Amino acid sequence: MTREGRGGDGADAARPALTDHGGRDPLLGFVDGAPGWLAATMNFCSRCGARLTFGRVDGEHRHRAACGSCGFIAYLNPRLVVTTIPVTDDGSVVLLRRGIEPGYGAWAQPGGFLEADETVIAGAVRETLEETGLIVEPVRIVGLYSRPQAAIVVVAFESRIVGGSPTVTPEALEVRSFRPQAIPWPDVAFDTSVWALTDWVRSAYPHLADALPARGSHDG
Ligand SMILES: [Zn+2]
Repeated sequence: MTREGRGGDGADAARPALTDHGGRDPLLGFVDGAPGWLAATMNFCSRCGARLTFGRVDGEHRHRAACGSCGFIAYLNPRLVVTTIPVTDDGSVVLLRRGIEPGYGAWAQPGGFLEADETVIAGAVRETLEETGLIVEPVRIVGLYSRPQAAIVVVAFESRIVGGSPTVTPEALEVRSFRPQAIPWPDVAFDTSVWALTDWVRSAYPHLADALPARGSHDG
């Protein structure tokens, strides 16, 4: 990027800092550095089967769950959820009414856990096809959102629809498009979905920004 194009050295001084969505949420129910539901699964070494203990480990900057028998350290890191915001030719967004928990019956963008043998783009395209019957091409990143309570990070790609047709699937009770003004905010399943959809509306339809909901009123 040229100096002229960027208006100076260093990071763009005119650009507002990114919002740390959820960053001030208290980490309620965390145990040994993990959400309680996840800490409850950290009992035995996955390498040798001996009991894990949580505490100081040489060379580590924070306490860890480690195996006293073989020395294995059970690192705990969030998993990536890959999602898309499929946009129709007329600028509507395709959402699905979830047919599975969490968030059964509420609306969300298509997405799911990235598999270890796929790229983020391939995973987002696969999940969108599985859940909606639509073939999409991601065109830009709308945002990246942390939910420590769920031990996930969610990426949302604005995507164009290049094939397929909206289909009810085992994971979706309903698949339909919404004008940006008509997104059913009170019935959106997750904070991360509210954040991604509001960021999408804000960037794609700046004139609608004032009508967006306050952030962060749901779990997940
Ligand atoms: Zn072990």
